[in-house]
Amino acid sequence: MTDPRNDELEAQLAAEPSATRRPTVPALEERLHRLNPVLDHGFVRLVDYMGDDAAIVQAARVSYGRGTRTASTDRGLIRYLMRHRHTTPFEMCEIKLHVKLPIFVARQWIRHRTANVNEYSARYSILDREFYLPAAEHLAAQSRTNRQGREVALSGDEAARVLELLRRDAVQTYDTYAYLLNDDGTGEPADPERSMLARELARMNLSVNYYTQWYWKIDLHNLLHFLSLRADPHAQYEIRVYADAIAELVERWVPVAFEAFRDYRLGGAFLSRQEVEAVRAAVDVERLVAAVEAAGLSARERRELLARLGIHG
Ligand SMILES: Cc1cc2nc3c(=O)[nH]c(=O)nc-3n(C[C@H](O)[C@H](O)[C@H](O)COP(=O)(O)OP(=O)(O)OC[C@H]3O[C@@H](n4cnc5c(N)ncnc54)[C@H](O)[C@@H]3O)c2cc1C
Repeated sequence: MTDPRNDELEAQLAAEPSATRRPTVPALEERLHRLNPVLDHGFVRLVDYMGDDAAIVQAARVSYGRGTRTASTDRGLIRYLMRHRHTTPFEMCEIKLHVKLPIFVARQWIRHRTANVNEYSARYSILDREFYLPAAEHLAAQSRTNRQGREVALSGDEAARVLELLRRDAVQTYDTYAYLLNDDGTGEPADPERSMLARELARMNLSVNYYTQWYWKIDLHNLLHFLSLRADPHAQYEIRVYADAIAELVERWVPVAFEAFRDYRLGGAFLSRQEVEAVRAAVDVERLVAAVEAAGLSARERRELLARLGIHG
């Protein structure tokens, strides 16, 4: 289940570098078509992208009029958009990725409905004998406090036994798959005395740690939503590492938007009404204002924070 098109593209690009009139981002161009390895056999590969930080600004200025255009006001505008969840300008940027991932990770990933997906068809083609096994430090016991989490890593004989069982089952299911397919690699029966079970049926006993692949295209707004959920410590490690690999590409692609995303979304906090009331009751306004100034927030951000907390400083 390799992607021969990747090699063809690399060769084609080396032979005839193309000139384009579209805006491009040199830091991301470097990563086009390159595999970013994830887990033991997976990867994220950048196939294509459209737009950059300037495209976000350009779209927003259609709403707000041109105004003065400098790098700092562009940055301020992107940060304003992110802070106020004025999201449509971020939808002007798109990215297309080729991802290879275990089926159980794909099941979590596909819940993000706002992307366009084309998955490798195991009805049509034969899956590779490639399955995911956790590295020792990620082979951990069930958390007692979080039903969706894990705790300390297993060790010694127990860890070895668990890995052995996981490997044994995966190998066994693939052996059965291969037996049912009865394919000699050229589409002819390996054993002419037996039928070749339809690929769409033969695959059904494979374990969910087998790898699948897809092309995944999404706009920046929905991608940031995906990252806010899947690059979060609450997300399962096996999807989080994909989110981290994608975040690294996004930071190269739209550094200003990514910085704003990190400041207002990843590192920010949403407070309930009761929490706001508790903070308001406890806070010393002068100290808060001094701390906000020391944090380097603009006068506008300072006003907005105080207004959000219902404090009139
Ligand atoms: C830590 C974690 C634990 C989870 N645990 C579970 C679990 O136990 N069980 C489970 O089933 N899922 C679970 N999920 C999946 C979760 O419920 C969401 O399905 C997933 O995160 C996708 O989020 P989303 O719908 O916001 O994303 P997207 O599908 O990308 O949608 C983005 C946004 O578009 C809007 N939208 C998209 N489609 C519709 C629609 N049809 N109607 C209305 N609005 C729409 C919504 O505002 C949505 O937030 C978990 C997710 C995480 C991150």
